[in-house]
Amino acid sequence: MDDLSHLDGRPVIIGAGIAGLMTALRLAPQPVVLLSRAALGIGTASSLAQGGVAASLGEDDDPARHLADTLNAGDGLCDAGVARKVVQAAAATIEALARYGVRFDRGQDGALLRGLEAAHSRRRIIHAAGDATGAEIMRALVEAARLTPSIYVLERVGARRLMVEENAIVGVLCDGPEGSIALATERVVIATGGVGGLFLETTNPAGSFGQGLALAARAGAELADLEFIQFHPTALDIATHPMALVSEAVRGEGAVLVDETGCRFMADKPGAELAPRDVVARAVWGHLAKGHRAFLDARQAIGTEFAARFPTIDALCRRAGIDPAKQLIPIRPAAHYHMGGIAADGAGRSSVEGLWACGEAACTGLHGANRLASNSLLEAASTAAWVAQDIVGSLARTRVRRRPRTVARTLPPALDPSMARPILSRGVGVMRDREGLSEAAAVLLPFASSQCAASEPAIVGLMIAIAALRREESRGAHFRMDFPQRAARARRSTLRLDEALASARELDAPTMHLARRA
Ligand SMILES: Cc1cc2nc3c(=O)[nH]c(=O)nc-3n(C[C@H](O)[C@H](O)[C@H](O)COP(=O)(O)OP(=O)(O)OC[C@H]3O[C@@H](n4cnc5c(N)ncnc54)[C@H](O)[C@@H]3O)c2cc1C
Repeated sequence: MDDLSHLDGRPVIIGAGIAGLMTALRLAPQPVVLLSRAALGIGTASSLAQGGVAASLGEDDDPARHLADTLNAGDGLCDAGVARKVVQAAAATIEALARYGVRFDRGQDGALLRGLEAAHSRRRIIHAAGDATGAEIMRALVEAARLTPSIYVLERVGARRLMVEENAIVGVLCDGPEGSIALATERVVIATGGVGGLFLETTNPAGSFGQGLALAARAGAELADLEFIQFHPTALDIATHPMALVSEAVRGEGAVLVDETGCRFMADKPGAELAPRDVVARAVWGHLAKGHRAFLDARQAIGTEFAARFPTIDALCRRAGIDPAKQLIPIRPAAHYHMGGIAADGAGRSSVEGLWACGEAACTGLHGANRLASNSLLEAASTAAWVAQDIVGSLARTRVRRRPRTVARTLPPALDPSMARPILSRGVGVMRDREGLSEAAAVLLPFASSQCAASEPAIVGLMIAIAALRREESRGAHFRMDFPQRAARARRSTLRLDEALASARELDAPTMHLARRA
């Protein structure tokens, strides 16, 4: 690799999905370094997004309604101030994305088309290229980033450690095709996406296993609401990894859930197929646990329109030999979205000086205990502007330039999340209890406390398991079979790595015995 010392001092953005790209673009003309672990645009959850971006643009809609739906989905745990700011920014965010070149779907009059998704009280899902919204957004943002001279993209380079002195960032250690790279910087943005890749069944890219959360946790940052993972109820149940998603929009257009006997098993539940995701996921999970299979039936409601309205899903189904206009679509729940993440304030600042978080890796409090569909692309794109603004403000503050005293150039072992996947799927899935969570934490502990290929995935998995153990109630996407009720008082949760390790060590002896047997 060429000498990169000329990049020293620039803010470093780790991850190049919608959050990382938008932060870099919003920072222009401030010079920045953007790390992309694969070729730019590849391996992101952003490019898989189908439904769209939530924005209250209709005449029958307004930010107050969007806020009410968001708070309702969040089940008492949203930060209402952050949520208000995000929904109010939605119109400007759509305009900004369009300015960067995103071609949203419009009617003949030029007005943006608006789709409906579960738990939204109005049609407010702005989409592009039908159900290929994420791919179109990424196409435009990658192109815009490549044309922006202030953005220095390091492709096929991943961050492996944050260098921290006196609770402040001083650098990032990375691995690239030619070995280790140390970038000296006082400002880092973690935009590494979600944690679905820690589970066997997920809609996330395999590389989304919370590496940014591990980087931040090791650096001493506080993480928040980690126990809240949204399981999408309708991942396409064919042998693919990641599992393809059959978007909520398909149910929004009238498709229903049936089993192999044709029984519509959600029909008598409040909201039926358009109930919140956690309710639908548990109903499907419960039905599968009884030995049934689960399908989406789009034959009557959408029929021959399916290919035109949902071209991506149609193509995925056809590749598996299924014609959704005439046949049932097999589905099952899969880990999909992490509401928790690096605790971030309204400007994306973490508890470590010089460390910001943006997108799915951040926990701003917008989603609370459960995410309202299509609020995540909105959050990533709108909060990127606030992160960028805050970084620019921090650059203006005169500071003594800090240089890393010791630059560790020895890379930790290559990462491998495969050992963590069965453990999380078994103990930390849709339905949880004390025994399963304790066992997961106990099995992950030795890996999380050592330096091996599984350490980082184990750190994140263990922190999620401990947060889920501590929450002795069922709320939003977190369901405890041993505590099925909601607690009277809603409280958000925070956790640091040292606390999580200490809690795991305190697990009782029978649990450790069980873990050793596993
Ligand atoms: C199938 C699917 C459909 C979805 N549909 C919608 C939708 O319709 N609407 C909606 O609002 N949301 C949707 N979501 C959620 C939404 O897509 C994500 O929350 C959002 O795209 C996350 O963006 P991000 O930039 O934070 O992360 P990502 O887009 O995942 O980007 C993170 C990037 O960081 C990289 N990275 C990770 N670790 C490192 C490292 N150590 N060093 C360097 N790079 C690293 C990753 O490789 C990746 O490229 C969907 C998600 C999925 C999986």
